[in-house]
Amino acid sequence: MDKISIIVPCYNEENVLPAFYRETTAAVKEIEGAECEFIFVDDGSRDHTPEILQHFTRMDERCRFLSFSRNFGKEAAMYAGLQNASGDYCVFMDADLQHPPALLKDMYHAVKSEGYDCCAGLREDRTGEGRIRNFLSHAFYRVINRMCRLDMTDGAGDFRMMNRTMTDAVLELKEYNRYMKGIFSFVGFDTKWIPFHNVKRAAGKTKWNFRSLFRYAVDGILSFSSAPVTLAGTAGGLLIAVSILSALGILLSGHALRGVPMLVCLILLLSGIQMLFISILGEYISKDYMESKKRPVYIVKKRGGF
Ligand code: UDP
Ligand code: MG
Repeated sequence: MDKISIIVPCYNEENVLPAFYRETTAAVKEIEGAECEFIFVDDGSRDHTPEILQHFTRMDERCRFLSFSRNFGKEAAMYAGLQNASGDYCVFMDADLQHPPALLKDMYHAVKSEGYDCCAGLREDRTGEGRIRNFLSHAFYRVINRMCRLDMTDGAGDFRMMNRTMTDAVLELKEYNRYMKGIFSFVGFDTKWIPFHNVKRAAGKTKWNFRSLFRYAVDGILSFSSAPVTLAGTAGGLLIAVSILSALGILLSGHALRGVPMLVCLILLLSGIQMLFISILGEYISKDYMESKKRPVYIVKKRGGF
C-alpha cells in the first residue's frame, strides 16, 4: 500500500480547517491502493488554528502537526512539512480549499501509473482575484522566465504531488530563501499538468497584500537570477558610449566655448566607468551568492547497472 503525505501550511485558518478536513478526508477515501497522512504546519497562527490541529491529531491518527514559534512564511511551512513527510508521494495543499481535493485521485493515478514524477494543478483562470493582481502576475511570469533561464509555468501553484525521488531532490535544496516555484522548475522531472478552475477561498482571508506579493516576486527573481546585476553594467556601458560620442560631437563642431560641455562629458564617462566596475563586482558577488546556496550540481533520476 502506498502512502501519500498531504502537507498543509496553515496561517490563521480556523475558519476553513474543519471544512478542509471534511472534504479532503472524503476525497482520499476515493483513492484506491493508497493510504494517506496529513501533515499540517501551523505557521505561527494567532487564532485557534493550533487547537483545531491538536483536535485533529487526537481524533484521527493519520493527522500530525507542527506549530512554528512565529510566522515564518508559507515557503518555510512547506519545507518543514516536506522534511517531516514519510509518504511515497507528497502533495502540497492550501488549507482554504482553493486546491480541489477531488484532483488528488487523478494526481495519484498520474504519478503511480502514467510514469510521471510529478502531477501539478494548473490554474486555468484567476476568477475572483482582481484585475490588477491578475495583470501583474502575468507580467511577473514573463519577466522571471526571461531572467532565470528556467521555465516557470504561469498558473502553476504549489498544488502538486511528487514521487519520493523528486521529493528528495527538492529537499536537497537547502537554501534559506526558498522560492518553491523556482525550486520545482530547477529540479526538473516529468510533470503532468491538470487544469482546474480557480475558486474563491472557502472561508477566511488571503494572507497576501500588494506589498507582500511584490516582495515575494522580487525574492523569486533574486533567488534564481543574477540578471539585475547586469543592468548596472548595461547602463554603465551606455553612459560611456553616450559621453564619448557627445565629446566627439563637441570637438568636431568647433565651438569656441567647449570647456563646460566637455567637463559634463568627462563626468558622464567617469560615472559610466564606475557603474561598469560596480556591475563586474556584482557579478563576482552573485557567483558567490549562488555558490553559497550549495545547490546540487546535478540531480539523478534513475540508475542502472551500478
Ligand atoms: N500560508 C502560510 N503562511 C503564510 C501565508 C500563508 O502558511 O505566511 C498558507 C495559508 O494558510 C494557506 C496557503 O498558505 O493555506 C495559501 O495562502 P493564501 O490562501 O492566503 O494565498 P492565496 O491563495 O491568496 O495566494
Ligand atoms: Mg488561497
